[in-house]
Amino acid sequence: QIRVRFAPSPTGPFHIGGARSALFNWLFARKYPDGKLILRIEDTDRVRSTKESEENIKAALKWLGITWDEGIDIGGEYGPYRQTERLDIYKKFTDKLLAEGKAYYCYCTEEEIEAERQKLRAENKMPIYGGHCRNLTPEQIEKYKAEGRKPVIRFRTPADQSVNFDDMVRGKMSFDSNGIGDFVIVKADGIPVYNYAVVIDDALMHITHVIRAEEHLSNTPRQVVLYEALGFPVPKFGHISLILGKDHTKMSKRHGATSVEQYKNLGYLPEAIVNFLALLGWAPQSEQEIFTIDELIKEFSMDHVAKNPAVFDIDKLNWINAQYMKKLPAEKITEMAIPHLIEKGYISESPTGEELDRLNRFTQVIRDHLSFAAQYTDFADLYYKDDFSVDSEDCQTVLKEETANEVISLFKEKLSSIEEFTAENIQPLFKQIMKQFKAEKGIKIGGKSVYMPIRVALTGQMHGPDLAGLVEVLGYDRAVKRIEQTLQ
Ligand code: GLU
Repeated sequence: QIRVRFAPSPTGPFHIGGARSALFNWLFARKYPDGKLILRIEDTDRVRSTKESEENIKAALKWLGITWDEGIDIGGEYGPYRQTERLDIYKKFTDKLLAEGKAYYCYCTEEEIEAERQKLRAENKMPIYGGHCRNLTPEQIEKYKAEGRKPVIRFRTPADQSVNFDDMVRGKMSFDSNGIGDFVIVKADGIPVYNYAVVIDDALMHITHVIRAEEHLSNTPRQVVLYEALGFPVPKFGHISLILGKDHTKMSKRHGATSVEQYKNLGYLPEAIVNFLALLGWAPQSEQEIFTIDELIKEFSMDHVAKNPAVFDIDKLNWINAQYMKKLPAEKITEMAIPHLIEKGYISESPTGEELDRLNRFTQVIRDHLSFAAQYTDFADLYYKDDFSVDSEDCQTVLKEETANEVISLFKEKLSSIEEFTAENIQPLFKQIMKQFKAEKGIKIGGKSVYMPIRVALTGQMHGPDLAGLVEVLGYDRAVKRIEQTLQ
């Protein structure tokens, strides 16, 4: 049975990199009929862990459609699934390691450790623990206790060993145990450190494959020596590469939104985020870029996860999201846009009835220009703002064209003669105007000289969505009002 886990620390907003790790694990598990994904919360950092962050992670996973088979909320055979609820379990193993001499109490103070580190650094040596408390006599222990020192527990790392594991992404990895040193497994307050708790949990939860971010690669040799000391089978590891911004520096706030929630709030679609995240480090065998979930599950393979860093290309995400938006009915896009329209003050509440119908028609007009729902507000002036100014230099140049005024007036006139005020009936007017100029005045004008003045007169903008569609949505009265305002 394939058993993988996603084990986030609930210490802040749920980062897009965490979502990618969760997704890779999920895809990996779903490939196998009885594959299981376990969701475990690693909250041993009691200062930085918050309930809010845990809720945020759960909500984001659910939104993305990443479901777990065991873990917090739903339980399972190997719970509890929150590390702070497992402290007695860790203690049992710690007692065993202590009894076997594989771990020992260390009474060195923070200051002593720091001084030792600095000395080693100055000598260009690895800043590992020198082993001062490795073999204390009972008298020394008594003395430290009497001084009131609170000990940590260190693992007695075997010397002169090569620690090996075969990484699913990186291949054969080998570390020298002398470079690890005796590391802390339980802090003075009795709370185990990540490297220790993770091993016990992964072992007791029968995790077969540990798929996680590359930043943990340097932790893995410590974990491997612990597996061996505790007599647990070592799982398979797969360390997936860092995510870099487009400028190839580590992805950070500077690069824009980094949390799943931010993307959700901007109106990205979960299917598109999943599709995009899957391609962050995994390369499909074909050129295909848009994948359904089923296709992803079928095609995903750790064999094609790249070693080199993945680059977070927001343009690509926008393109993918636009592909998914195309499949949505206009009503859905409007619904997603409404909170943004409210937030930007275009409306104060959700429109209903006829006003909603009209907004849906406006959505039809602009939808091909949208990559994600929040962009709707970039176009909202077109719809909501009747009193715009046309004094930008570009607009003025268009309006000063010799034929501009007449083109605009003609258009206005023709609008009044339309029986049914639809885009279909409005569209031919532009050509008619061109023809009329030629027939009546012998002046040949290009399409641009027709479209541009009309667009500027109606919108105060040089570019935008389909004009006939926009005019239809505005309706006769508003269109004429806008034109008159520009012409005066
Ligand atoms: N709690 C760790 C983190 O959030 C998990 C590391 C692991 O998957 O082993 O980075």
